[in-house]
Amino acid sequence: MGKDYYAILGVQRSATQEEIKKAYRRLAIKYHPDRNPGDKEAEEKFKEAAEAYEILGDPEKRARYDRFGDAAFAGGGAHHYTDVEDIFRHFGDIFRDFFGGDVGGYGYGEQPGSRMAKGRDLRVRLNIGLEEMVLGGERKIKVRRKVRARDSYYQTCPACNGRGQTTRITHTIFGPAQTTTTCRHCGGTGQILQSRGKGADEDGLVWTEEVVSIKIPKGVREGVQLKVAQKGHEAPSANGIPGDLYVVFNEKIPEEYRIDGHDLHTILDLSLPEAVLGTTKTLKTPHGKIKLNLEGPVSPGKILRIRGKGIPALNTNQYGDMFVHIKVHMPHKLTEEDKKYFRSKLNHEHFQVKKNKRKSFFEKIHDIFS
Ligand SMILES: [Zn+2]
Repeated sequence: MGKDYYAILGVQRSATQEEIKKAYRRLAIKYHPDRNPGDKEAEEKFKEAAEAYEILGDPEKRARYDRFGDAAFAGGGAHHYTDVEDIFRHFGDIFRDFFGGDVGGYGYGEQPGSRMAKGRDLRVRLNIGLEEMVLGGERKIKVRRKVRARDSYYQTCPACNGRGQTTRITHTIFGPAQTTTTCRHCGGTGQILQSRGKGADEDGLVWTEEVVSIKIPKGVREGVQLKVAQKGHEAPSANGIPGDLYVVFNEKIPEEYRIDGHDLHTILDLSLPEAVLGTTKTLKTPHGKIKLNLEGPVSPGKILRIRGKGIPALNTNQYGDMFVHIKVHMPHKLTEEDKKYFRSKLNHEHFQVKKNKRKSFFEKIHDIFS
């Protein structure tokens, strides 16, 4: 008796039209080519189910099939689907039906408006110092970019009529869908080169060097990207707009500094007498000079915290802190006199090791310089 369409859909001979429809829907989703890319078996099952549904989903055809089997359709009527696209063409509304009408964004009619062609983006790296990170600033940089040659002329792309896109109707489980792709002929600009200017490339563009002013936001950090609108390459089209310039920042900070989050760490070197007697030091920081009055004796490893003298969060006035790590340098050599002095202090109570029971906050800070 040939094909058993009921078996294919997995329903009883007594199934209602609603049950048949549901069964087909289940199979169509299961074997949908979008879900089973490249799976030939699934594609066969998908086609088979469509064929079964075409008969059983139509009460009149179903009645004929019930009486005569698939021989009833030997002279036509049953559709042997060879192409999946065919199925969608046939059952487009059924698929839509399954999913409750229009599924957002699909459908015919809406023609995307012509887009403005845009040139390629450009990316440059820029080294920034600590001061710029802290205070922001302005920088003029040389940028090599492509611009339209004065004597390059363009004409409307015949392949897309200047739209820059081509539209194709594809069929999805939700029904027909319009897919828009970039026109391959003009690369999306909607125009093609009519006559190439002197020294221009195949897009009608020539290299040029331009000085671009960059506003460096304070708090800028390694890897931060700054977009400078329309300072990329110009579009290969008479009415397009240039691409954008992206400035990627690289931190270049002095050796004596380390950055930890928004905090700055630095070292202050003291000689032994300075540490013992106390001293006044001037620290050169990206915030300017900071005068430090250190009362002796100063412990080696002591960390001073200077609030608000770190790095700001990007584009804000919220600054981290600066931590000054005290490093005390021992004498390179001692005279007999020095030795005699220290020997006399060996048992002196002021020179005895006295451990603090409670560690100070600063001592707990991980010493990033060690
Ligand atoms: Zn085109």
